[in-house]
Amino acid sequence: MSSMSGLNVLLKRIPYKFKTPFLLDSRAFIGGRWTPAASGATFPVYDPEDNQVAYKIANVSRVEVKTAIGAAQTASRQYKQLTHRNRKILLREWTKLIKRSRDDLAAICTLELGKPITESYTTVDYGISFLEWFEGEIERLYGETIPAARGSNRIMTYREPQGVVAAVTPWNSPVAMILRKVGAAISAGNAVVLKPAPETPMCAIAIAKLFEQVDYPEGTLNIVTGDAAASVDIGDEMCHNPAVRHLSFTGSTSVGKFLNAECAKHLKKTSMELGGNAPFIVFEDANIQKAVSSLANSDLLDKHACALTALLSTIPSSTSSQRDSRKQLMAFLNTGLYGTRMLILAPLYSSRGVEKAKAHQEDAVSKGAKIISGGFIKEDLGPNFYVPTILTGGPSQEMRSWTQETFGPVMHLTPFETEEEVIKLANTEESGLASYFYTEDISRVWRVSEALETGMVGVRTGLVSACEQPFGGIKESGIGREGSKFGVEDYTNIKSITVGL
Ligand code: NAP
Repeated sequence: MSSMSGLNVLLKRIPYKFKTPFLLDSRAFIGGRWTPAASGATFPVYDPEDNQVAYKIANVSRVEVKTAIGAAQTASRQYKQLTHRNRKILLREWTKLIKRSRDDLAAICTLELGKPITESYTTVDYGISFLEWFEGEIERLYGETIPAARGSNRIMTYREPQGVVAAVTPWNSPVAMILRKVGAAISAGNAVVLKPAPETPMCAIAIAKLFEQVDYPEGTLNIVTGDAAASVDIGDEMCHNPAVRHLSFTGSTSVGKFLNAECAKHLKKTSMELGGNAPFIVFEDANIQKAVSSLANSDLLDKHACALTALLSTIPSSTSSQRDSRKQLMAFLNTGLYGTRMLILAPLYSSRGVEKAKAHQEDAVSKGAKIISGGFIKEDLGPNFYVPTILTGGPSQEMRSWTQETFGPVMHLTPFETEEEVIKLANTEESGLASYFYTEDISRVWRVSEALETGMVGVRTGLVSACEQPFGGIKESGIGREGSKFGVEDYTNIKSITVGL
């Protein structure tokens, strides 16, 4: 084992003993080889609990990305020759290894993100669930026979792999975000070049270490690691290299729009899983206790730990309640979440997250919002322990929390009078990822679900993501769906073959 892999990669002591230390490495994975940056450059990854450097990772340049894309292209030609059954056998093997390393993967998540370990297990298991689902989908990538208008023809369609898929993932729920995207692309028969977020590269590296143990053609999965400055060149190469046929991105709307526009210059296919400002609506006829416990279980206000590092883009960012239920809701929020229960706070993923949450909160307060709960850093615990914040008044269209996604623990509580009013308010958002509402009225369930302009609606539930369910947004929240059969089909081209008799 090289000196760049294993426990010697760790630059700080952590209270966890890795079972398979070979999962830790500081290098990129290109064409089946572990490679330092050609320039020798590295970038630091911080432990959000104390902002200390946890390790230093290869900071690659455009050259290594080009090599990775070339390796992926060679691998994809070989890999697409395998039968679907063989692809499934390989995926099953990779999944088995990931399951076996569940403890280590969860520990890495906690180290990189500051997540409480229970939350880290949740994201690892969530990621595994996608691989298990895709395993079933591989052999269901059916084509069709189409009745031809000309009697002398026969028409069939096949679903073919696209070739090289470039993937870019964010820091949040890193294992799940990577497996949901990379797992689908590989299941569909493609080779992948992945750029993980600079906050969470080790999750990607560990996943690739396990991938390497399986008999995939070399270069089927490549990991190119880099910091925010390197991202620009990495992204540019991914968007403009002709061998890349599909760019799959999960992250903010602004970066997604930019990458999508670059890819459009070559008519590359894109998948865009972007930001959202999810409304959470509680009607007067709702079961308030259920609504509150669902909010408490959301990533904004986790019932056990305020697991604020684990913010999903489906996180509720504004809660609206009809006036009659508002007092009740506020009472529950105060006593249920902040009253008797002792909270264990987790840090936000980095000081970047703290700055954004703080800026949005201060901006809202300067424009009339009032803090009813939280809104400060618990410095005795660490620099990134931001206490979840509930504001009243707003969000109004002048506030940054309205026009931008906070993606942090700041929530507005907004009263409303009528169903029409709240639907109008929710639909004013430019984003359209997820929305949630609570009611016990069956007609309202359908009426409001159909009226809300989001890709996903949670009715009487605060959880709208699962491996079997199409995940994705409309409007500025993205293009395409991940998970489910659609998530795999997205990485195929339909080829039609017409045979003349
Ligand atoms: P981000 O700033 O957009 O970054 C996402 C990824 O893109 C990171 O790896 C980032 O690396 C990279 N990146 C940025 N500029 C790039 C460029 N020019 N070329 C190539 N890569 C580039 O988002 P984030 O703060 O990491 O993640 C939070 C966002 O993700 C939120 O907006 C959230 O809603 C969204 N999200 C959406 C979903 C969904 O399924 N819809 C799921 C999870 C998260 P660098 O940091 O190095 O630039």
